Amino acid sequence: MTWRASASTAFGFWTCKAYGSLRRLGVVFTTDHDLAGIGEHSVQFLDVYTKEPKEITHIDALVLVNGAASQNRLFHELRSARKDLEVHLIGDALAPRRINDAIFEAELVARKI
Ligand SMILES: Cc1cc2nc3c(=O)[nH]c(=O)nc-3n(C[C@H](O)[C@H](O)[C@H](O)COP(=O)(O)OP(=O)(O)OC[C@H]3O[C@@H](n4cnc5c(N)ncnc54)[C@H](O)[C@@H]3O)c2cc1C
Repeated sequence: MTWRASASTAFGFWTCKAYGSLRRLGVVFTTDHDLAGIGEHSVQFLDVYTKEPKEITHIDALVLVNGAASQNRLFHELRSARKDLEVHLIGDALAPRRINDAIFEAELVARKI
């Protein structure tokens, strides 16, 4: 049931395909772990819930995917400094997401002005 709901979206469909391919290729997913340390060729984790340590050795490369934060200071400064201006907050400045969200919001604003 959950899989069907997920696969009904384009993102869910491709995620299911990618995860399946990766698992068939032997990729092991380690979830619910915090990064606790990075060694020369090893990575240490802590289980988020039990704090049990876990180490993965023989690491060749480590790719960090960090979260993003919106940069919207210009919007707030402009809005308070220039009440005569119509200022809109869209795209990643509103909330970091995908490029199609920024394009969609830009079109909505463009049609309004
Ligand atoms: C590494 C990475 C990979 C990504 N991959 C994908 C992907 O594969 N598919 C996807 O859909 N999305 C992807 N995204 C997200 C996508 O890039 C953003 O959602 C999209 O670029 C947001 O567009 P935007 O116009 O809101 O912001 P931006 O593209 O960030 O444009 C904002 C612009 O404003 C300029 N600016 C900022 N402050 C000022 C200022 N004070 N004065 C003048 N100019 C200023 C910046 O220099 C920048 O050029 C990725 C993002 C990153 C970081």
